[in-house]
Amino acid sequence: MSLSFEQKLQNYAELAVKIGVGLRAGQRLMVRAPIESAPLTRLIVASAYKAGARLVDVLWTDDAVTLARFNHAPRDSFEEYPTWQAEALTQIAENGDAVLSIYATDPDLLKDQDPDLVALVQRVAQTHLAPFRRKVMSDALNWSLISLPIASWAAKIFPQSEPDEQIAQLWEAIFKVCRIDQPDPVAAWQQHVAELSARKDYLNAKAYTALKYTAPGTDFTLGLPDNHIWHGAHSQTPGGITFIANIPTEEVFTMPHKDRAEGVVSSSKPLSYGGVLIEDFSLTFANGRVVNVTAKKGEAVLRKLIDTDEGSARLGEVALVPHSSPISQSGLLFYNTLFDENASNHIALGRAYRFCVTGGADMSDEDFAAAGGNDSLAHVDFMIGSDEMDVAGVTRDGQLEPIMRAGEWAF
Ligand code: ZN
Ligand code: ZN
Repeated sequence: MSLSFEQKLQNYAELAVKIGVGLRAGQRLMVRAPIESAPLTRLIVASAYKAGARLVDVLWTDDAVTLARFNHAPRDSFEEYPTWQAEALTQIAENGDAVLSIYATDPDLLKDQDPDLVALVQRVAQTHLAPFRRKVMSDALNWSLISLPIASWAAKIFPQSEPDEQIAQLWEAIFKVCRIDQPDPVAAWQQHVAELSARKDYLNAKAYTALKYTAPGTDFTLGLPDNHIWHGAHSQTPGGITFIANIPTEEVFTMPHKDRAEGVVSSSKPLSYGGVLIEDFSLTFANGRVVNVTAKKGEAVLRKLIDTDEGSARLGEVALVPHSSPISQSGLLFYNTLFDENASNHIALGRAYRFCVTGGADMSDEDFAAAGGNDSLAHVDFMIGSDEMDVAGVTRDGQLEPIMRAGEWAF
């Protein structure tokens, strides 16, 4: 039996509320949503109230509004920021409310804009949102990120299709990679989460000191801090609410040691960052820091990202994703990190998640840095994995053990 579109949309809304944010009866929920998502957002709001939400609030976003600012606002005004939005989010986190973000944007929205202004807008937002991000990075609240098709984005992924087919094709792809087309999506997710947990438990028991990556264009060693913790799928707030921060998610991840990355690593997919595509790039690391950058496209924006602050030239996340993931199987490039990072092994420039090291949430900034944790305004994932990548774990006595061969789990 195949489900109707309406039924799938309903399932998607329920999955986001129940499995994604894991909304608990009595909580409030804030939804951040593009205006194109109104039909889905209304279902989400209804699902949340049915699950016992006290109050559901929606903050709408719109690419056209973003673009209008770049096209028409005074050039000296880009330091301005609606502070109330950042304050509201911090307050929501402090209250123990839940947050669901629906992210969909035109990957080329800002491609003709001045890279300095694009970087400035990113930096100003990151600065204002830092207190909220800090709560998010330590799992202080239950939150989730999902996506939905919008016309500009669907056109980028399916340029060969008629405009009215593009959105339907992207919906179909999203439903597939989010397991919404399965008879019982909630059960399918529970099984998927259990599988990721088993991988994570194995890696935690191994406590490797480093990972060694080899692939065309990549010869790279990434140190892992003592007491690092691998995570997969599930997160938990201090109050015991379990949630899944990203739907879809296929990754098992931890933090690397900020001072122990050596060698060259090459991207295996384009990175869509701040409305610009960065393509075919390689980063060379020494003592954990980027010392050389090359990119066939978007190099100026990549360099600005790396120059954001001291920590944006270092790494804060390392994630393992088998090449046979549903996203990789789809054969699509989504131009959206939520999907593309789950197709492939990836690493992230910038801030590390504090819950990736034992006791991290309670450490001072100095202690977290001493433990190898990176800090930055930025956190940007980029894809390095392929079916030609091998990953080995380095044991305490220097032995190499296979973790992935030709892009697939080797244990
Ligand atoms: Zn990741
Ligand atoms: Zn990340």
